[in-house]
Amino acid sequence: MTRFIFITGGVVSSLGKGLASAALGAVLQARGFKVRLRKLDPYINVDPGTMSPYQHGEVFVTDDGAESDLDLGHYERFTGVHARQSDNVTTGRIYSDVIARERRGDYLGATIQVIPHITDAIKTFVLANVEDEDFILCEIGGTVGDIEGLPFFEAIRQLGNELGRDRSMFIHLTLLPYIPTAGELKTKPTQHSVKELRGVGIQPDLLLCRADRIIPEGEKKKIALFCNVRPEAVVSALDVDSIYKVPISYHEQGLDEQVCRHFGIETPKPNLERWEKILERVIKPEGEVTIAIVGKYTGLLDAYKSLAEALTHGGIANNVRVILNWIDSEVFEREDTVSHLDGVNGILVPGGFGERGVEGKIAAATFAREREVPYFGICLGMQMAVVEAARNLAGIKGAGSTEFGPCDEPIVGLLTEWQKDGKKETRDENGDKGGTMRLGAYEARLQDNSRIRQIYNTDTIFERHRHRYEVNLAYESQLAKHGMVFSARSPDGILPEIVEIPDHPWFIGVQFHPELKSKPFDPHPLFGSFIEAAVTQSRLV
Ligand code: GLN
Repeated sequence: MTRFIFITGGVVSSLGKGLASAALGAVLQARGFKVRLRKLDPYINVDPGTMSPYQHGEVFVTDDGAESDLDLGHYERFTGVHARQSDNVTTGRIYSDVIARERRGDYLGATIQVIPHITDAIKTFVLANVEDEDFILCEIGGTVGDIEGLPFFEAIRQLGNELGRDRSMFIHLTLLPYIPTAGELKTKPTQHSVKELRGVGIQPDLLLCRADRIIPEGEKKKIALFCNVRPEAVVSALDVDSIYKVPISYHEQGLDEQVCRHFGIETPKPNLERWEKILERVIKPEGEVTIAIVGKYTGLLDAYKSLAEALTHGGIANNVRVILNWIDSEVFEREDTVSHLDGVNGILVPGGFGERGVEGKIAAATFAREREVPYFGICLGMQMAVVEAARNLAGIKGAGSTEFGPCDEPIVGLLTEWQKDGKKETRDENGDKGGTMRLGAYEARLQDNSRIRQIYNTDTIFERHRHRYEVNLAYESQLAKHGMVFSARSPDGILPEIVEIPDHPWFIGVQFHPELKSKPFDPHPLFGSFIEAAVTQSRLV
């Protein structure tokens, strides 16, 4: 029997609802349950694919090619369960599906309304593609009271009734602010938030209260009384110094026990060994390395969420702390790279779109190549490393990418046709921007005797893509003559997937996003190897 847990948020946004949901998933898993997490996003974009990372943070890409909310990244990192297209939906997608059906005539005769048509579509989404999971954890984006969230709250309210209490549970995440002048954690905002939730017909079963200190029993009782929940179902979500402590902290505060109690299930205590081991390494590393991340969206760290986590995982694999030095690549268009990059143990140029800052990324690649500092180029970071090598190693002066306009030597260009799973995929320059990139997991074959082959220790990989442009195979032999080799390709041989410089201590560019598949308990081999190279480099300087 699959049970559904709905997680809503109140008081303020940015309380870490995604992380809270992911961590609850992890502790339930540690009790032996099979879980899957889902996110309902009330905004009107069909998906976050066309939004600026400054608006919405990173776009997380699933194996099956969905451009989705970054919370799905937390879900995967905490549970290891690969998210799917069917795990994230927005108001935009719900409406466009309902409208498409209306045009087709599926509802002939009916007036289409928010209730029941939109709410039915939301309910169908929540209940679809459920296999043998014990729990589906369903997070509602935004905060209770948001106008655009109302249909989602109404849909889960209805689901609560239809599924019954033994198959559904409502968890509400709130904040207890500490007021220094009063010397107290305040419960009033939580009371108001629950009132708002009850106003849309939802009585929470459990309150998860963010606080910067232990919530005194008296305060818990007060919340319980005013919010109509059991005192034990008021659970502290304490601020912690590492996100990987959250599952353990939640367990200590009794969250999983209360969830089991709600559903009347008994299990042995959870096995949290996995999290204890990770925490031990995060808290007591044996050394540290500094990695410069030369990107474009460095003003908002959520824009590189998975990347930052994957680097941390690389540190876990090598038992070192990874210090992240975020550098806006535009700086290098005004200032010398040396003053910023001298002394770092590795340089990573992440993915990105558009021309702003690309010359700075190229300058970072020059620095790494010439100074023999480990270089990791991801997607645009790979493309720019190839442009750099073309210009400065192979002497192809006009080398560039057609993403930034016509150029004499299109080292990176738009490919309009390619194969996926034996089927042809196409795109053209003037097509829709949304959902038309090379998206999702693609197979790549690794060349024998390459560094990448050693790193992965296999000859076939599946990694997730999100890009429109490709490195141009026509330049392969010219680049190879000057020391940069294409060491992996798509199975049909036409798309370069990985480049490397064998004579450099560690210089690798990948067309895909390996950061999306890294887990704290299973660090991605590329990040493990990159940080290992950074550790070696740190011993040299
Ligand atoms: N802008 C580049 C492209 O579309 C790279 C994309 C990325 O880095 N994710 O191909």
